[in-house]
Amino acid sequence: MFDVVVVGAGPAGSMAAKTAAEKGLNVLLIEKRQEIGTPVRCAEGISKESLKRFVEIDKKWIAAEVIGAKIYTPDGTEVVMAEEMAGNEVGFVLERKIFDRHLARLAAKAGAEVVVKTTALGFERTQNGLRVKLRRLGEEWEVETKLLIGADGVESKIGRMAGIIKTLKISEIESCAQYLMSGLDIDENYTYFYLGNELAPGGYAWIFPKGDRSANVGIGVLPSLAKMAAKHYLDRFIEKAGIKGKIVEFVAGAVPVYGEIDTAVADNIMLCGDAAYHSDPITGGGIANALSAGYHAGLVASEAVARKDFSASFLKRYDELWKADFGWKLRRNKKLQEFFLKLDDSTLNSLAKSIAGKNIKEMSVQAIITELLRNNPSLLGLFGELFS
Ligand SMILES: Cc1cc2nc3c(=O)[nH]c(=O)nc-3n(C[C@H](O)[C@H](O)[C@H](O)COP(=O)(O)OP(=O)(O)OC[C@H]3O[C@@H](n4cnc5c(N)ncnc54)[C@H](O)[C@@H]3O)c2cc1C
Repeated sequence: MFDVVVVGAGPAGSMAAKTAAEKGLNVLLIEKRQEIGTPVRCAEGISKESLKRFVEIDKKWIAAEVIGAKIYTPDGTEVVMAEEMAGNEVGFVLERKIFDRHLARLAAKAGAEVVVKTTALGFERTQNGLRVKLRRLGEEWEVETKLLIGADGVESKIGRMAGIIKTLKISEIESCAQYLMSGLDIDENYTYFYLGNELAPGGYAWIFPKGDRSANVGIGVLPSLAKMAAKHYLDRFIEKAGIKGKIVEFVAGAVPVYGEIDTAVADNIMLCGDAAYHSDPITGGGIANALSAGYHAGLVASEAVARKDFSASFLKRYDELWKADFGWKLRRNKKLQEFFLKLDDSTLNSLAKSIAGKNIKEMSVQAIITELLRNNPSLLGLFGELFS
C-alpha cells in the first residue's frame, strides 16, 4: 500500500511527490502522457522569486530572462514595469519541456516511483483508504493508498469524483491559443501584454520571448464574452500588430479563473494546482501557485501519515497553508478581474495614460493597482476594500 498516490506530473504533482518522498513517504506519481512536459500548454512566464522558493535555478530550463513587462491598451498607450537596474532579471520564460521533466526527476531522486503513459481512471473507498484504478496501454490494474493527491490539471477527474470541484462555467475559464514563433524582431528584455475588449474579450494577448528571436505569442479570452474561438482572436492580433515570424508550434488550452475555492480536500484526498483552480484570475499564471500548493500538500501528507489521520478535518491543515500563502491573492484578484471586466476600452486607455511613464519598479498586479490608486484617488472607494 502506498502512503500517497499523486495523479499528474505537472509542477503541482511533481512538487507534491518530491516533498512527500523527501519526508520518507512511499509515493507513486502517475502521468498519463508519454513524455512529461509535452505538449507545453503554457506561455512559460514566472517570476524569479516564485521559482527560487521551491527549486534551485538551473539554466538548462530557462529559455529567457527578462527585466520587465510592457503593457499596451487599445490606443497604444504603454505602461512599463521594470526593475530600476537594467540587467537585473526579474522574470523567466521557462522551457517547460525540460522544467517539468526536471521536477519529476527530483521527485524520483527523492524516492518517488514515477510512471508515465498511465492514466488514473478513478478511485473507490476501502476500509483502509482508497483503491485507485489505473490504465496503461489497454491494461488495467489497481493500487491502494492512504492518500490521493489530485494534481491532474484544469479538468481534474479526481476533484470531480471527490465532489470537491464542479465543472467550471464558461465565465470561469479562460480559453487560450498560442503559437511558438521564430524569426521575430522584438526586444527580448521584456514580456508584452496587450489589452482590449475587441482584441481579447475578458483576457489579453501576450508575447513572451524565448531567446534566439523566438517567442510564445498567445491570447486568452473568456468564452462567455468572446464571439469566436481564441485562435481567431490570436490570428487577428498577429495580423493587426504586424508580427512577422514563422509559426513552429500551436497549442490550445484552458486556464481556470475561478478565484479561491472553499476547500481543496475531502477524506483521504487533496487537490493542488489547476485541479484546485489555483491559477490567478487576472494573469492566468498558475505555475508558482502549483509549486506552492504541491509543496504544502506534500508536507501535510507527511503529517497525516505520522498521525494516521487522513480525514478531511485533519487535511484542512493543507487548506490553511495554501490559503495563507496565495489563496487571499486569488480572492482579491478575482474581485479585481470583475472590476476590470466592466471597463470599456476608452476607460482602459485613460487609466493607462494616468500611469504611463511612471516608474513602476515591480512586475506585479499589486504594483499596477498601487500606481493606479496613486494617480486616480477616485478609485480608492472601489479598491480600498481589496487592499485593506
Ligand atoms: C496557453 C496557456 C498559457 C499559460 N501561460 C502561463 C504562464 O506564462 N505562466 C504561468 O505561471 N502559468 C501559465 N499558464 C497556466 C499554467 O500552465 C498552469 O497553471 C500550470 O501548468 C498548472 O500546473 P499543474 O501541475 O496544476 O497542472 P498541469 O501542468 O496541467 O499538469 C497536470 C498533469 O496531469 C496529467 N493528468 C491529467 N489527468 C490525468 C489522469 N487521469 N491520470 C494521469 N495523469 C493525468 C496531465 O497530463 C498533466 O501532465 C498557462 C496556461 C495556458 C493554457
